[in-house]
Amino acid sequence: MITHKNISLFFIFLLLLLFLLNLYMAINFWWFVLIVLIWMGINAFGSARISSNYHVKAFCNNPSETEKKIALTFDDGPSEFTLEVLELLKKYNAKATFFCIGKNIETHPEIVKQIIADGHLVGNHSYSHSRFFDFYHEDKITDELRKTDALLEKFTSKKINFFRPPYGVTTPSISRALKVTGHKVIGWNIRSLDGGLKNQDLILSRIIKRISPGGIVLLHDTAPHSVLVLEQFLQFLQQNNYKVISVEELLNLKAYEN
Ligand SMILES: [Zn+2]
Repeated sequence: MITHKNISLFFIFLLLLLFLLNLYMAINFWWFVLIVLIWMGINAFGSARISSNYHVKAFCNNPSETEKKIALTFDDGPSEFTLEVLELLKKYNAKATFFCIGKNIETHPEIVKQIIADGHLVGNHSYSHSRFFDFYHEDKITDELRKTDALLEKFTSKKINFFRPPYGVTTPSISRALKVTGHKVIGWNIRSLDGGLKNQDLILSRIIKRISPGGIVLLHDTAPHSVLVLEQFLQFLQQNNYKVISVEELLNLKAYEN
């Protein structure tokens, strides 16, 4: 399996072998550089791609689902737009999971309350969602996860089980922090890119093209264009007989523990 540990062992072994070989015959220095560069490239790819399971095991879809069932997830809220998202979900009878940022929970506690009252699930998406999160030491990551859990648990009264790493990036420090906190990492296999893209048609066609049974869609409840895309997307799902179910049901995992 291609994991951070296996790749590290393989490349350390390869470099040692080259060093030993170098004692008997002159090995060109550029071979060492090339191997290190390939190693760094694999690390970068594995860190950036949540579905690679490179640093941590992430649940990104249910490949064995054959019925037209998918799950919707919303990142980076709660925000003022979350209420519009909730209205739409209610209208189309869809249940979603909201990966909340701790500092936003402090700003909009009443919205978290509404999310839960409407029967949706919540998960941890760090406290700060800092751009530097991926460079944090494991202790700082553990603190952020615990702080956000505590904020959410005021509403759920149960232990939060799901975590989605900011930007979907994983690192050895995040992996070590998760061993302490015990969260399950929930990824996605359909990324809307609605955080960067503003063109609604482009976002919608991107998601629709990728839809298949057992998929998990990543959206954001933080911008007006995402809300407009959501309405069209929910219409599409309804017309194509897709059922929106919770991440819990899709993956057969518990979002909370007693
Ligand atoms: Zn995020």
